[in-house]
Amino acid sequence: MKRVALLGATGSIGKQALEIVEAHPELELVAATSGSQPIDGLAPLTQIGGDPAQLLERAEPDLVLNAVVGFAGLSATLWALEHGVTLALANKESLVAAGELALAAQRRGGGLLLPVDSEHSATFQCLEGRPPDTVDSIVLTASGGPFRGRTRDELADVQPLDALSHPTWNMGPKITIDSATLANKGLELIEAHFLFGVPYERIEVIVHPTSIVHALVRFRDGAALAHLGYPDMRVPISYALTYPERSATPVRPLDLAAGLTLEFAAPDLETFPLLRLARRAGELGGTYPCAFNAANEVAVAAFLAGRLSFLGIADTVEDALAGVDGSPAGDLEELVAADAEARAAAESRLPVVT
Ligand code: NAD
Ligand code: MG
Repeated sequence: MKRVALLGATGSIGKQALEIVEAHPELELVAATSGSQPIDGLAPLTQIGGDPAQLLERAEPDLVLNAVVGFAGLSATLWALEHGVTLALANKESLVAAGELALAAQRRGGGLLLPVDSEHSATFQCLEGRPPDTVDSIVLTASGGPFRGRTRDELADVQPLDALSHPTWNMGPKITIDSATLANKGLELIEAHFLFGVPYERIEVIVHPTSIVHALVRFRDGAALAHLGYPDMRVPISYALTYPERSATPVRPLDLAAGLTLEFAAPDLETFPLLRLARRAGELGGTYPCAFNAANEVAVAAFLAGRLSFLGIADTVEDALAGVDGSPAGDLEELVAADAEARAAAESRLPVVT
């Protein structure tokens, strides 16, 4: 039996994780949380909102699946890593914001960190624990989102509903907007850096519209291993929940004889500057990734609320990043302060509502 705590149980990842848990008698759901929706009776221990640390102490899970959205997922990530409890991580924002602190907690706790993000689950499987010095480069694929191929002018008037219709993945609203701006791939670039210990110049992002290849690793001997499959989050969720078993899922095997063309293209960094901004924040290090994430969360919320234009998301993040200090956080308190500083910087740059 594996005791599972599911944080963010009412979300897109959370619901798909419940489906996997139900299909496996050896997975026992011992605790579940949501941000605000009722979840009474879903698990023996449930909680709505707030810090999940006490709930996790009582639940004594073997595995924590963190499927909370945003910086709010940080406490669960740090709790699992510090306690040496296996962390299945969908909540990329916590690793982006707190990369160094999270890795230090993992070194102390000694537990497993299993990525749930599809590109990172794919990379993890291609790497199979091989050391970073055997790796030439990691390639993360991006669908390009609903606005692939458009120019900046063509994006001036897009509305939240346009941005919320993703071509290949069905996800929560925040990550769907991040996919439309390519901020999601920027967060994933930083996430990959911390997960796999590979420097930024050896992590490439490539546009691949059908999302069949999830990631590819080039090794120093000239070989490249890729991970393919239909875009369905139940595959990486199941992989993390049943690791190292690779259990069966309802997802059909890849059909090659039906005809399968794989297309790749460089991302358009002019039209989608958030990918470039994320790379720079990652390279600068310190609390710049935390600030990038915080400013982006504020800007996306403002866009979804109709307070900010689509192109304004990147402008807000760029302006906010230029105004923050970015020096490294020695502890959680300093990190939370850096997050708050960047949120305030982004808020102050939002258009005034009249
Ligand atoms: P979602 O919006 O559908 O669900 C988010 C969940 O978090 C909900 O259960 C919500 O109640 C909970 N939550 C929100 N705010 C909270 C708070 N302040 N405290 C505690 N809980 C809170 O989001 P999602 O699409 O399921 O994404 C979850 C995470 O997984 C994100 O970090 C996202 O980037 C990542 N991810 C999602 C997908 C996907 O296909 N949906 C793919 C890869 C990675
Ligand atoms: Mg992803």
